[in-house]
Amino acid sequence: MGNSVRKGKAVLLDQSQVKGFQNCRPDQEDLYPVTHEAPKVTNISPRGTDKKKTEMSEVRATLLNYIDTNSVVVFSRSTCSRCKKVKALLDSHGVCYASVELDKAEDGQRLQEALNELTMPATVAPFVFASQKFIGSFDAIVKADKEGKIETLFHPGNDVPKEDSYDFDLIVIGGGSGGLAAAKEAARYKQKVLVLDYVTPSPLGTKWGLGGTCVNVGCIPKKLMHQTALLGQALQDSRKYGWQVEENVQHSWDMMTDAVKQYINSLNWGYRAALMENSVKYENGYGEFVGPHKIKSTNSRGTEKLHTAKRFLIATGERPRYLGIPGDKEYCITSDDLFSLSYCPGKTLVIGASYVALECAGFLAGLGLDVTVMVRSILLRGFDQQIANKIGDYMEGHGIKFLRNYVPTKIEQIESGTPGKLKVTSKSTDGTEITEEYNTVLLAIGRDACTRNIGLDKVGVKINEKTGKIPVNDDEQTNVPYVYAIGDVLEDKLELTPVAIQAGRLLARRLYAGSTQKCDYVNVPTTVFTPMEYGACGLSEESALKKYGEDSIEVYHSYFWPLEWTVPARDNNKCYAKVICNKKDQERVLGFHVLGPNAGEITQGFAVAIKCGLTKEQLDSTIGIHPVCAEVFTTLSVTKSSGEELVQSGC
Ligand code: FAD
Ligand code: NAP
Repeated sequence: MGNSVRKGKAVLLDQSQVKGFQNCRPDQEDLYPVTHEAPKVTNISPRGTDKKKTEMSEVRATLLNYIDTNSVVVFSRSTCSRCKKVKALLDSHGVCYASVELDKAEDGQRLQEALNELTMPATVAPFVFASQKFIGSFDAIVKADKEGKIETLFHPGNDVPKEDSYDFDLIVIGGGSGGLAAAKEAARYKQKVLVLDYVTPSPLGTKWGLGGTCVNVGCIPKKLMHQTALLGQALQDSRKYGWQVEENVQHSWDMMTDAVKQYINSLNWGYRAALMENSVKYENGYGEFVGPHKIKSTNSRGTEKLHTAKRFLIATGERPRYLGIPGDKEYCITSDDLFSLSYCPGKTLVIGASYVALECAGFLAGLGLDVTVMVRSILLRGFDQQIANKIGDYMEGHGIKFLRNYVPTKIEQIESGTPGKLKVTSKSTDGTEITEEYNTVLLAIGRDACTRNIGLDKVGVKINEKTGKIPVNDDEQTNVPYVYAIGDVLEDKLELTPVAIQAGRLLARRLYAGSTQKCDYVNVPTTVFTPMEYGACGLSEESALKKYGEDSIEVYHSYFWPLEWTVPARDNNKCYAKVICNKKDQERVLGFHVLGPNAGEITQGFAVAIKCGLTKEQLDSTIGIHPVCAEVFTTLSVTKSSGEELVQSGC
C-alpha cells in the first residue's frame, strides 16, 4: 500500500517506512489489530464483493496501525488550507506528529471512507488523533488553540493531576467480553474510563486484536467452524432431497480461515470504534499494578506509562494450559493457534475431553480430517454424564477415534512442515505405553487465569494460590475494596462470555448508576457445540440426585428424530431430551438437557422459563410448535424411574 506519510520534514512513502520511522517516537506500538499477514487464499480466490471486503478490511487495519503507532497523527490533504493551518498550529506548539496525505496515498479514498466510519458523524480532513483518540477536525484544533488547551490535548504528560485526584474513575485491565462491557457501561454514566488490553503471543507467536478470547480465539471462530462442518453434513443430506451435488466436493481450509479472519477483523474494528464513540480511552498495553491505585502499562516496544484510578476492574481472562512434558510448547498448538492456522492441520490428535477439546475435534472431523481425542478420565466433567456419553458415542459413530484413559508423555518432531509430522508417546492408566504419528497435536486441557503477573501482590489482592482464580463477594469486589474482578478470572463461576458481559454491565450500573442488581450466576444456560449440539440449563442428573436425594427427583425423557433428518434417514434415536424435576416442590424443573440440532437456540427460551420457576405441569400445559425439535419438551411422559422403553413420538 503506497501511502504518503510525513513527519516533521520527512516524507515516507509506504507502510513499511512508517514502521521504520518508529525510532524517533518514544511511545509507539507496532500493533496491527490482527497479527497475520494480509489474507491469502490459495485454492480459490476471493472475487467481487469478497475482494472488496478484504481490501477494506486491510485499509482499516492500516488506519488503526497509523493511529496506534503514532502518539499524534493528522490525516490531511496536501492542498487543503484548513489542513495546512492545523499543522502550522501544531508546529507552533512543538507538537510532534505524523501526517498522512490522503490525496497522495494510493488507498487515500478508502482511508477516507474508513476515517468517516471511525469518526462518525462523517467529517472532512484534517482528522486529528492523539493517544489513540479522535480529537477532531479544523474547528476543534482552532478552538483548543484559542482556549489554550493544545498543551493538555497533545502533551497529556504535562497535565499533572491534582493531588488526591486520579487520572481515571475506572481502569479496566483486559479488553475482552467482560472488560469492554463494563468500560462502555461505566462511560455511559459519564465516568472517565481507561481500558488496557494486551495479547501476549502464544508460544507459537499467534496474537490478535481487541475483544478478548470470545471474539478472536473462542466462541466466534469456533461457532463459524462448527457451522462449516454442519454445512458439510447438509451437503450430504441435500442429495437425498434431490440436489445433484457432485460426489467429490472439496473444502478449502484457507478460504474458511480467511473468511473467519475477515469477520473477526470487522469485530476488532467495531470494538475500537465503540470505545471511541463512548469516549473510553484505550491503550494497547499490558497492565500491572505497581502500588495502591496505580498501574503500569507497558506496550509491545517496552515503553511504560503510569496511570492512577479511583477503582480498578480485573478482567484479564485465561490462556490455554500446557502439559509440561517434553515437546509440548515447541510442537503442539492450542485453540489460540488453531483458528488462524495458516495450513490445514491434517491428521490431528486432540488432548482433553471437555468443551474446547470436543468442539474442536468435532468440527475438524466434520471437515473430513482424521481426528483422535485422547481422554484422561471422563467426557465433559461437570455435565450430565448420560448426555456426555451420548455425545461421545455420536462422535465415535461419525468417525472420531477416542483413546480413553491415556495421557501423553512426550511429543517429538519427525518432520517439520505445514503441517509436519509428530510422534506422540502416551501412557494409559494401567501403564501401557503407545506411540502414534500425527500431523498436528491440539492441547485442550484447560485454561489458566491471567492473574499471576499483574502485580496483585503490590496491592494485596488475594488469589487462590493453587488455581490463580480471584475470589470475590457477590458485588464482584475483591478483598481490596477498590479492586473488582469479573469474567473467567473469577473463582467458582462459569467461564462463559454472556456471564462476563452481564457481570461487567451490572457492576458498572451498581458503581455509577445507583443500581442494586447483582449478577445471578444460577441456572446459566450453556451449549456445547459438538457435532450433535448439547444445550443445558440447571442441574445435571447426578448433581440433582446428590443435592435433593433420590426420593425427590423425577426424570422425564425421550428420544426424538428431527424431521429434517428423516428424509436422509440418518441418526434416528440419537437426539435426546430430558428434564429433571423436584417431586417435593411441584415438580419444579431443576435441570433441562437437550441433545440435538440447534440445541442452543432451544435452550435459551427454556432458560427464561426456568428462571421464572418452570414446573413440569407448566411444560405439559404449553402447546408445542409443530414440526420442531423443541416441541418434545411439551409432551414428555416417560419417567426414568418407570423403566419404560423410550419410543419415538410422532405427529
Ligand atoms: P477474555 O475475553 O479472555 O479477555 C481478557 C483480555 O485481557 C484478553 O484480551 C487478554 O489478552 C487481556 N489481558 C490479559 N492480561 C492482561 C494484562 N495484564 N493487561 C492488559 N490486558 C490483559 N463462551 C461462550 O459463552 N460460548 C462459547 O461458545 C464459547 N466458546 C469458547 C471456545 C473456546 C475455544 C474458548 C477458549 C472459550 C470459549 N468460551 C465460550 C469462553 C469465553 O470465550 C470466555 O468465557 C470469555 O471470553 C471470558 O471473557 P473475559 O472478559 O473474562 O476474558
Ligand atoms: P476444562 O473444562 O477445564 O477441561 C479440561 C479438560 O482437559 C478435561 O477434560 C480434563 O480432564 C483434561 N485435562 C486436564 N489436564 C490434563 C492432562 N494433564 N492430561 C490430559 N487431559 C487433561 O477446559 P476447556 O475445555 O479448555 O474449557 C475451559 C472453559 O471455557 C470451560 O469451562 C467453558 O466455560 C469455556 N468454554 C465454553 C464453551 C461453550 O460455551 N460452548 C466452549 C469452550 C470453552 P479431567 O476431566 O480428567 O480433568
